[in-house]
Amino acid sequence: MNVEKRKEGEKEKGRRKEGRERKEERKEKIRALIITHGHLDHIGGIPYLMERMGNPPIYTREMTMVMIKKRQDEFPHQDPIDYNLVEPGDVRTLGSLKVRFFGVTHSIPDSMGVAIETPYGNIVLSGDLKLNHEKGEATDVEKT
Ligand SMILES: [Zn+2]
Repeated sequence: MNVEKRKEGEKEKGRRKEGRERKEERKEKIRALIITHGHLDHIGGIPYLMERMGNPPIYTREMTMVMIKKRQDEFPHQDPIDYNLVEPGDVRTLGSLKVRFFGVTHSIPDSMGVAIETPYGNIVLSGDLKLNHEKGEATDVEKT
């Protein structure tokens, strides 16, 4: 059983490595990094990825930008980040795609989702969400 788990882990590790290598090979095509909110699982990897991705501009809301800047203080040797503040309702053209930003409810202020307009249809990424439940049941606010 351990051998099986190890094999699965190795396979996953290989896939992650392939994904990372693909990003590095195609970094000239990366137009932006959109950060939906400031939780560490969303901003913690930025110092490790920016150079590999060619230091693309970051699009995010103000509180998230402040949190990223604080995190970047721990990596003073890195190139400065090109921050672009957005608000719900804003539309930006990133490369050849239009991106619409919208607010979402989450456990941290300034959370957002994005809708990316493509010739084939929209891609909607909600970001993380917070649902209102009490004792396992959706609250009245959630049902509306
Ligand atoms: Zn979150």
